[in-house]
Amino acid sequence: MEFGHFFCTHCGARLKNGYNKCQSCSWPIDEDGDAVPTAVNGGVGWFEDVKNRRFAKYDNQHVMASILFLFILLAGIIGYLFYSGNFEMNATGFSYAAVLAALFCLPETIFLLSKNRRKREWEGKIVDKLSVEKTRRIKSDDGHSYTESYSIYQLVVERANGKARKYSLGRDAALFDYYRVNDYIRYHGKAHLKGLEKYDKRFDSFTYCLKCGNRNNFSRDYCSACGCPVIKAE
Ligand SMILES: [Zn+2]
Ligand SMILES: [Zn+2]
Repeated sequence: MEFGHFFCTHCGARLKNGYNKCQSCSWPIDEDGDAVPTAVNGGVGWFEDVKNRRFAKYDNQHVMASILFLFILLAGIIGYLFYSGNFEMNATGFSYAAVLAALFCLPETIFLLSKNRRKREWEGKIVDKLSVEKTRRIKSDDGHSYTESYSIYQLVVERANGKARKYSLGRDAALFDYYRVNDYIRYHGKAHLKGLEKYDKRFDSFTYCLKCGNRNNFSRDYCSACGCPVIKAE
């Protein structure tokens, strides 16, 4: 998966529009850096910098944006109810507004907190790769329906306790190719790091961002789409 180019791949600074160099470090912006394979590989070993503040910073900004959006929406709804006369400008009206605000915020707060809860990390070895064929009915614009077939890709991963579990990669064929049988992989466990890291990165010229899933060459130090560090052996 390739996303847009928003961050400097050398220093991780956010890029400004209209420049062909990073404004912080003068690194040239490589628009199609991922299309060209490089001789640089990712080495052998786990990426150790998962506590890098950039991973968390991205999350916090996302949470703040969600809260701000909900607050504006809520203010708009309550404002409308007063304006339209459904709520009167008296004690009763204000208490209705307070109850509405509480009912509105409660599920959102629970959702945001549960999202940030720590998931457990695990490691394992890929023992098999499965491609499950599926079909679905699709309706075209002229009202006819037809059957489309597609594949769901899965890794079978044996954990340290000897138990094998399936891990879905969805419909991403490129991601499915990236992982090989006998690869050791690590899931970093935090709710905000969704990717699976390979222990041995010597045979790859690129990797997928742990945070956003963007594909980055190992010649990069930071993800072009989200500015998080590119995972390499230390
Ligand atoms: Zn830079
Ligand atoms: Zn990223």
